[in-house]
Amino acid sequence: MNYFPLSDDQQEWKERTTEIAEREVGPRAAGYDERREFPQESLNALRDAGLWSMRVPKEYGGPGLDLVTTCLIVEEISKKCPSTAMCFKMHLEAVEAVSHIPTQYQLERYVQPLLKGQVFAAAPGGEPHGSSGDDWTPVPQTVTTLPRVEGGFHLDHIRKSYVTSAGHATHYIMFCRVEGGRTEGPPELLIFKNDEVEWETIGEWNGLGMRGNCSVPMIFNGVVPEENLVGIELEDKSVPVMTKYMSPCLILTYGAAYLGIASGAFEFACIEGDKRYPSGARRLDNPINQRRMAEMSAQIEAARALLHTAAAMEDAGRTTSVLPLLQAKVLCSEAAVRVTTDLMTMFGGTAFAARLPLERYFRDARAGLVMGQANDVAYNTIGTLLFPGN
Ligand SMILES: Cc1cc2nc3c(=O)[nH]c(=O)nc-3n(C[C@H](O)[C@H](O)[C@H](O)COP(=O)(O)OP(=O)(O)OC[C@H]3O[C@@H](n4cnc5c(N)ncnc54)[C@H](O)[C@@H]3O)c2cc1C
Repeated sequence: MNYFPLSDDQQEWKERTTEIAEREVGPRAAGYDERREFPQESLNALRDAGLWSMRVPKEYGGPGLDLVTTCLIVEEISKKCPSTAMCFKMHLEAVEAVSHIPTQYQLERYVQPLLKGQVFAAAPGGEPHGSSGDDWTPVPQTVTTLPRVEGGFHLDHIRKSYVTSAGHATHYIMFCRVEGGRTEGPPELLIFKNDEVEWETIGEWNGLGMRGNCSVPMIFNGVVPEENLVGIELEDKSVPVMTKYMSPCLILTYGAAYLGIASGAFEFACIEGDKRYPSGARRLDNPINQRRMAEMSAQIEAARALLHTAAAMEDAGRTTSVLPLLQAKVLCSEAAVRVTTDLMTMFGGTAFAARLPLERYFRDARAGLVMGQANDVAYNTIGTLLFPGN
């Protein structure tokens, strides 16, 4: 269902992606999860469909797809394989700013290769709390300030805690501060290719869910030229590049990825629940299950309606803050957790014994509460935006 009115173009992209996701992405999802394997083949299928560069504006030779279409596409992929959708969504957010405000050098060096399917990016952001390891300590998360040295900015053993697509990405768009740059607010974005600095990945990714993501810590060493700073030639420096050119895509695609977990699990349940027991009855004949499914359907539609409304507002240049985007993100991720939790109950021991993909959706959904801006952090921001001065 899509209650939000889609244009013919948006509907076509949705259907095209559904077909790719069913054919190329869905069949590999369980294997990636089981083997904790990076979803390279599924991502390549998205590249072959031109989706890696789908946000590049027309003026630079891309299709310039809008954010509503982007949400539709990410949801369709996530319905079939949340790990693939998460790696893909991280790539989209990583290349978003440089695709919209490249310098001539960045256009030739990064955006044109992106259009040829040669750029698959990761977004190393968060760093360990405190100075050592990835242990929790009650210290706000910060990013290191990179000193200026001859040739650019010095990455001196910069450790990032979780980097989706670590070691598999061709390019990294690092969240950092730079000497002489802003000291408050969102970090700067520094782009480089994987062979332009030294890096190593730490350990193996063995998360509860999103097991295909390879979201392990990374350490970076090297010097990155100043001209690799995204937005370096912008005249108006008052609004951070991240806020204006990256955040909408970043937040909305989180929402879309988690919405896809909810809607993918729900669609599966509609088919599985319709199967008949030897008695002839169906799981969906049970009034308790019908009530559960009815509630889930309402949650999914509410989350999707807000997500598409927020995306359309952004496409139309009508948003004045991240409020609707964050509200959509928390609603979508909570829908994913709630829907998959209820479906684990509804499908009983069969689900618990992992004989159905519901258990995978259930595990993947949990990541939505703690990542992207953890929901608690997002609610803090929402509260501050609603009640400034509190
Ligand atoms: C699968 C996966 C992939 C990821 N990929 C990437 C990636 O590619 N790039 C990247 O940069 N990061 C990535 N992350 C990291 C992610 O975005 C979060 O930074 C990370 O999950 C937060 O974990 P933490 O232990 O640092 O949480 P903490 O910051 O310690 O937070 C733990 C909990 O404390 C509470 N809390 C913390 N701060 C606040 C606050 N200010 N207000 C209210 N409550 C608060 C919340 O309940 C929160 O859930 C990934 C994470 C996961 C799980």
